[in-house]
Amino acid sequence: MSDQPDPSAVVTPAEQSVNRRDTLRLLGAAGLVTAAAPLARAQTAPPSQTTPPAQAPAAQPTPPVNGNGFYRQRIGEMTAITVSDGTAPLAAVLPTWGANPDRQAEFADTLAEYGLPATNSVNHFNPVVIETGANRVLIDTGRGGANGQLVANLRRAGIDPAGIDTVFITHGHGDHIGGLTTGGQPTFPAARHVIGAAEFQFWTTQANPNAAVQANLIGLRDRFALIQPGAEIVPGLTAVASPGHTLGHLAVRATSGDQGLMVLGDAAGHYVLSLRHRGSYLTFDTDGALAARTRQRLFAQAVDEKLWVTGYHFPFQAIGHLRRMIGGGYAYEPTLWQWS
Ligand SMILES: [Zn+2]
Repeated sequence: MSDQPDPSAVVTPAEQSVNRRDTLRLLGAAGLVTAAAPLARAQTAPPSQTTPPAQAPAAQPTPPVNGNGFYRQRIGEMTAITVSDGTAPLAAVLPTWGANPDRQAEFADTLAEYGLPATNSVNHFNPVVIETGANRVLIDTGRGGANGQLVANLRRAGIDPAGIDTVFITHGHGDHIGGLTTGGQPTFPAARHVIGAAEFQFWTTQANPNAAVQANLIGLRDRFALIQPGAEIVPGLTAVASPGHTLGHLAVRATSGDQGLMVLGDAAGHYVLSLRHRGSYLTFDTDGALAARTRQRLFAQAVDEKLWVTGYHFPFQAIGHLRRMIGGGYAYEPTLWQWS
């Protein structure tokens, strides 16, 4: 990790104009006349901190406008919110995200075809909140520490960490569990914590567990409920066996009416290379061949069942659909951006 500025924190002119519009609307509603100073503050503070006028008529709270680190998507009666934990510099995409030694030229051609930089890129981290109506579930928690942007972006989305009732962990890598604790305390104090039993056992029985595991899995072990693949996490959400990236990795299938979402976690792999190139794997897949087979199975299921998908390391907003390509492989199509 480095101390370079976080690209996700940059406000584009388009965001600025929407934020300005939205801010002026809020200010207008509040009857304020001084716009300049509150405008700057409103770009980083959640709308809930905008002080309402004393005699304001009761109004429905308006969900925050999409962007600035979070994206809401209605799926049936549920809402999925991808919440960015920020990005990290990625010096070279290859071989990390397409590790097969004999296919490096093929992968490089694909990056070029998509106009994607092979060097000086960024890696994204995208936890997901699912509001089912009865539960508010957070899936994965980002890196935590100085780099972690999850809590700041949850607040921008109008979500208090204490309002998360369930935290589900796909697997035990540091970029997924690092945000479970803050300064040694649980970041989500009201939440039931859930993880696959095999995954939890693997990480917590190491001879020398790493610092992230010590703090966030072993340190919170009394909070964790251990489940098996296929188990219900909360009503509407099911854990899906997805071994390979780690051997106990679990994806999440969310279902509401005739709509569904597959939260792929790191069973997604790279948003172009893993989809386009059957059999490709990542340097940090525990079992590359198994990870590649698992990916193909989940990608096929997502297309066949017309599921929404979200991939943890896909570029923010990180939610959309997959399609089969003529000649083999899949393509990720991010949903067309809606501000609200
Ligand atoms: Zn990861």
